[in-house]
Amino acid sequence: MINVKERERRQRTFVEQLKKSGASLVGFGDVSVVKSELTNKFPIAVALAVKFDGAVVDNLHNHEPAFHKHQLEVRAFMERLVNVAADFLQEWDYGYEIAPSKVINSNEELSRFQEFSYKTAATCAGLGWIGKSDLLVTPEFGPRVRIAAILTDAPFKTAEPVTEGRCGNCTLCVDACPNQAIKGAAWQRGTAREDLLDAYVCNQKRLDYIPAIGRKYACGRCIRVCPVGRGNNYAPQRKRDTRQRDHHRCAKPMPHRKARSHRQGRLSDGQAFELCL
Ligand code: SF4
Ligand code: SF4
Repeated sequence: MINVKERERRQRTFVEQLKKSGASLVGFGDVSVVKSELTNKFPIAVALAVKFDGAVVDNLHNHEPAFHKHQLEVRAFMERLVNVAADFLQEWDYGYEIAPSKVINSNEELSRFQEFSYKTAATCAGLGWIGKSDLLVTPEFGPRVRIAAILTDAPFKTAEPVTEGRCGNCTLCVDACPNQAIKGAAWQRGTAREDLLDAYVCNQKRLDYIPAIGRKYACGRCIRVCPVGRGNNYAPQRKRDTRQRDHHRCAKPMPHRKARSHRQGRLSDGQAFELCL
């Protein structure tokens, strides 16, 4: 049995080491609210987020293959990060289970896919809310993150959960979806995914590209247009190129005068945004 000081030291060390290893966000959530065999055994979730490169996301409508490649790289990076976290938990003799991640390759798989949701872990850990797009939206990086979770019985201190969305009157992702898959509803804890997103339409429309390009289309329009956290996730070497764009929170490459239209709105916490489309 370890004392409180040692427990806190371990938690601090854990976060520091994960951040050194490349985690953009690390949170701890009480997931016992999700009633399942898994969460009874492991009631604490370690939620991890790795940010995407903002320049790749900004340009995904022009260069989808680069976004696809970037997603694969970040996914592989996240797998390594999860292993770093698992090594620490093992060293300290805590029980854990790595919540499985799966690439959905058919709508049959989508309907069978009942694994523990990373997004639940992330909201329980206070990392962000579920946007109208059904993506996790973090204040720091918006939905431009890859997330993962490890469930554990380690007695880590947990954060205040996020229980409702902060999208306010924004509908940019709803309007940007080429397949009308996003329904425009606001999320709160307990909202069913199908009330936010027609995941079957999103999945199928992207699967339809397989004969043409040999793989599922990455799309990502809903990620690209979200105004939350824009400008926070540019790779350092690209910062110079994007400075003006960040100033305007502009979704289109400069020059700004070429923007076809502007959209303004307000998130529920009062933060105003303007996007040039
Ligand atoms: S990934 Fe594309 S199709 Fe799917 S919800 Fe987002 S914008 Fe729509
Ligand atoms: S684009 Fe707007 S509505 Fe969609 S998730 Fe982001 S803040 Fe929410």
